[in-house]
Amino acid sequence: MKCDFCENPVVYTRKYSGQKLCSECFSNSIVRKTAKTISKHKMINNGDLVAVGVSGGKDSLALLKIIHEMSKNHNFKIEAITIDEGIPGYRNEALEIVKNFCSELEIKFRVFAYKDLFDLSLSEALELRDDEKSSSCSICGTLRRRALDHAAKEIGANVIATGHNLDDMLQTFLINMLSGDTNKIGWMDPDNSGSSIRKIKPFCEIYESEIVFYAFTNNIPFQTEPCPHMNEGIRTEIREFINSLEKQHSGIKNNLYQSVIRVSNIVKDSNYKEKVKCQNCGNECTGKLCSVCTTLHKLKEKQT
Ligand code: SF4
Ligand SMILES: [Zn+2]
Ligand SMILES: [Zn+2]
Repeated sequence: MKCDFCENPVVYTRKYSGQKLCSECFSNSIVRKTAKTISKHKMINNGDLVAVGVSGGKDSLALLKIIHEMSKNHNFKIEAITIDEGIPGYRNEALEIVKNFCSELEIKFRVFAYKDLFDLSLSEALELRDDEKSSSCSICGTLRRRALDHAAKEIGANVIATGHNLDDMLQTFLINMLSGDTNKIGWMDPDNSGSSIRKIKPFCEIYESEIVFYAFTNNIPFQTEPCPHMNEGIRTEIREFINSLEKQHSGIKNNLYQSVIRVSNIVKDSNYKEKVKCQNCGNECTGKLCSVCTTLHKLKEKQT
């Protein structure tokens, strides 16, 4: 069977649109879609230094490759940052992959560890928590957001790009809905032009399965070993649920994504709170203490 756009054989059928693509046209479509998302939401501007958060997984390495290619023809620069949570036996392989990939592409790369930033590795933090109510991923996610902010400031970047894809966005939306955490839904709007450091997700409109296929067809090496804490939360179940819906109803992920963006916009406007400075660390927050200081304070209380 021939590709819809050229004479080459089909390697990928986009079920929700019926498009049949050869390997090259498929890859080009991913690059084009990423560029379109970046320009639609004004994610990158002239003169920006973009810190690409690279975990060593398929999404972040694919993003690094695409954004690196773009930076060659545009007026912005990129550097890679990796956050080392301190999860024994997991992050080491990823760090090696990222290091090699960055040196191949000649991209500057730096590692920032929770242990250096917060004086606690994730494993130590998890040992200190007094119950399982705070899930590993919620503690880890809170610390990671701060670690990324810190890393961007350290290297002088004004944009942080992460490899979150459309599936990640849908899962996060449903997790927040199911846990009653509607405030966080307001953070999901891709437009954050008002922030001092722009957080961008250029893959937010691309299916995870397509990023996997892109990584394979472009021979991007990535870590396949999952984090040992991955299945502790509800995310894996939600992921399977959304995938089973998509299997029966092609395109349902795209529909849900449109709803996420609309709802996020409404929640963002109705929940607007003046940002103040955390009394402990000076970072922006909406209460007396930011979520990182609150989390660390609770954990370190147990340490003494
Ligand atoms: S799966 Fe959870 S604990 Fe593991 S790195 Fe991701 S957020 Fe952290
Ligand atoms: Zn083709
Ligand atoms: Zn703080």
